[in-house]
Parts: sequence; C-alpha cells; structure tokens
Amino acid sequence: MRLTPVAAFEDNYIWLLADASGDALAVDPGDAAPLEAALQREGLRLRALLLTHHHADHIGGVAALAARHHPVILAPQDARIPLATRRVADGERIELAAPATPVEVMAVPGHTASHVAYRVGDLLFCGDTLFSLGCGRLFEGTPETMLASLDRIAALPDCIRLCPAHEYTLANAAFALTVDADNPALIARARAVQALRARQRPSLPTTLGEERASNPFLRIDSSAVRAWCARHSVADDRTTRFAALRRAKDDFRA
Ligand code: ZN
Ligand code: FE
Repeated sequence: MRLTPVAAFEDNYIWLLADASGDALAVDPGDAAPLEAALQREGLRLRALLLTHHHADHIGGVAALAARHHPVILAPQDARIPLATRRVADGERIELAAPATPVEVMAVPGHTASHVAYRVGDLLFCGDTLFSLGCGRLFEGTPETMLASLDRIAALPDCIRLCPAHEYTLANAAFALTVDADNPALIARARAVQALRARQRPSLPTTLGEERASNPFLRIDSSAVRAWCARHSVADDRTTRFAALRRAKDDFRA
C-alpha cells in the first residue's frame, strides 16, 4: 500500500492510502479539491473515506467526494457527521472491499466526544488526538478522558506509524523543548523536523516509538515532566500533570 499525505488548508493532511490496483481510501477530507487533484495525478479510484471526528476541517469535502465517487464512508455515531454509510464503534474490525484491507476502530475521545482512530496494518490514523510532539486540544473531553485515549494509543507497538491530521510538529517542538529541554530524543527530533520543514517536506508519519521518546504528552510519568510540574507548582498526580501540561500548551506562544 502506498501512503501519501495530501496537504489541505494551512496545515491539514488528508491521508491517502492506495493499493497496487489503484483503489484508495482517504482519511478526513476537509476539502475535496486537493484530494481530487491527488487522485487524478496518481490515477487512483477513491473507494473509501474514514472520518475521525466532526470538525469541518476533517469532513468539509465529504459531500462533494461522495457525490462523485460513491465511496464507503466510515464514521463514528455522531449526528454532526452526515453521509456516513457505516457507523463504527470501539473495537470493531471492518473488512473493506477496496482497497481490500481490514480497518480497526479505536474510540479515542477527548478532542471531541465521538473521536475515533483507525488502524490499517501498522498505520494509525489518529485525527486530532495525538500529534507529533503534541496532542489535540480538549474541546469536548476532560483531561481524564484524553489521557485515557493517549494511554490506549501509547500501548500499541513501537513500530506503529502515526498519521495525525495536522502538520503542527515544529510549533509543538518549541513547546516540548520548554518542558523537556535535555531530552536527546526530543532535541534530535526537533532538529530533524526543522530540516524537513525548511524543505517543505512533511514531518509525518512519525512512529509511536519516536513519540514515546520525545512527546511530552506521552511522557507524563517522566522525571522531566514531573520536574516541570514541580517548577509550576502542579500537584504530582498523573491527571493533574497532564491537565497542566495541556493548559500550558494552550497558552504557549513561541
Ligand atoms: Zn479537530
Ligand atoms: Fe483538525
């Protein structure tokens, strides 16, 4: 299977995954136009759409794509996501006919209440739940909820390739370095991302192993995050540490 990040809007990626025959699925098409261009350019047929959550920058292109390509459309049960042909729930495994592949569904609430992630082989399409060196904002979830979702993702194997929906890595690195400045894995990742972005190359996908080593939101129990919390007079409790880190990131300006 061939994986392509299709850039949309300012910093979204619509992930496009195609098999050797030219059948493709796409994840979170917020805009139809860049995806149509990519399908044309690569000579692919759009057979399935996977939707992670209801935000417009993830579903805005669905109606136009559905009318033209008639794909299978997987989405969580949420009235704010119209046009789904199949509603999915945590733990389900769906056998797509084309591209012929199983898709596993993980409920990962926190950014929104009905947010799901999709696992296809060693790829995890995680929407706005986990970003490289960061995580999603808590629009509809408590810190407990989001932390539980991140913990579930973090329990997957190191080799999982994470495909988040936004190119936020450089800005996330700036914040992460204020928390975990002496972490060699983070320093190396920040450097590598800087070089990639300077050449307009995507910083994604990233691997779960890489993120566990460098992403402060997956390192809530590390001595660096605990020391940061102590410096900011945050109680040394797991959820409180996560909540404080997420709040500091909300307020952070590089
Ligand atoms: Zn979102
Ligand atoms: Fe988004």
